Amino acid sequence: MPRVLDGKVIAEQVRENLKDRIENLRSIGIQPKLVVVLVGDDAASASYVRSKQRMADKLGMAGDVRFLPVTVTQGELIREVEQLNADPTVDGILVQFPLPSHIDTEAVLAAVDPDKDVDGFHPYNVGRYATGSPVIWPCTTAGIYEILKRSDISIAGKTAVIVGRSQIVGWPTGQLLLTHNATVIQCHSKTEDLRKFTLQADILVVAVGQAGLIGADDVRSGATVIDVGINRVDGRLVGDVDFESVQEKAGAITPVPGGVGPLTVTMLMHNTIELATRRRGLEKWGR
Ligand code: NDP
Repeated sequence: MPRVLDGKVIAEQVRENLKDRIENLRSIGIQPKLVVVLVGDDAASASYVRSKQRMADKLGMAGDVRFLPVTVTQGELIREVEQLNADPTVDGILVQFPLPSHIDTEAVLAAVDPDKDVDGFHPYNVGRYATGSPVIWPCTTAGIYEILKRSDISIAGKTAVIVGRSQIVGWPTGQLLLTHNATVIQCHSKTEDLRKFTLQADILVVAVGQAGLIGADDVRSGATVIDVGINRVDGRLVGDVDFESVQEKAGAITPVPGGVGPLTVTMLMHNTIELATRRRGLEKWGR
């Protein structure tokens, strides 16, 4: 039987560790603070932001949400971000995407102080991990690493195939696995004969957004399969991997839901703590 890698259990382990780190920081008078900036009234974004707030509260962190109207100008949004950059009590800033079309997302990303960039999307932080000296990894990528590490799945020397190359998930995940000495193959929509590559994978990460893209014939026997995809099919959530058939062949596999998803918000809290301790030169307190 393959091992089903339970993201809920792993996320709980990460949060237990975070509670200790937050307790250490609070014992010296520091309460890590995450501020989310939400533009407009998109219901899915609002619900996601609320779940972030609840988790921050539960862990004993400070949290805040800045609600801005959908009509906010780019200049006003950037000024809001700059105020948060200048606020010494704020450790992490997250601007919730998507932004309205009249706002240049790149310009807003670049306005966030890299030392407070919890998402790890600022060009400076992307440059840091692209050059092999990461400060912060994007949350989903960081979550995938926790799943592998806490499940004792070794990375060094393994062939890792990533399907997807988005700036949010696919590309940083390839960079992370490369940093941890995997041999990385990065596939995308223009890849010819995808199966030729996926069959080589010791670790297969799929982050595309197409239900059933990867079936049992695409997976090498005993491989670790990490399914990032989230798709709604007939009212239920499924990944990009056909779980039923692939679990017969994989050595280990993440389910959807309950695999990578639970780690993503948790790693946002983890990144806030990382930034809170680094910014103050307090790494030894935050561990
Ligand atoms: P994007 O749409 O930004 O990127 C999709 C990637 O898949 C692109 O690189 C694209 O290639 C590639 N692709 C598309 N079709 C194919 C194909 N047929 N074969 C190979 N590659 C293909 O999506 P995201 O990266 O933002 O998200 C991917 C999935 O992960 C979505 O389902 C999303 O909902 C989910 N997700 C889940 C999270 C979680 O916490 N579990 C967090 C974030 C996302 P190209 O670059 O050539 O266009």
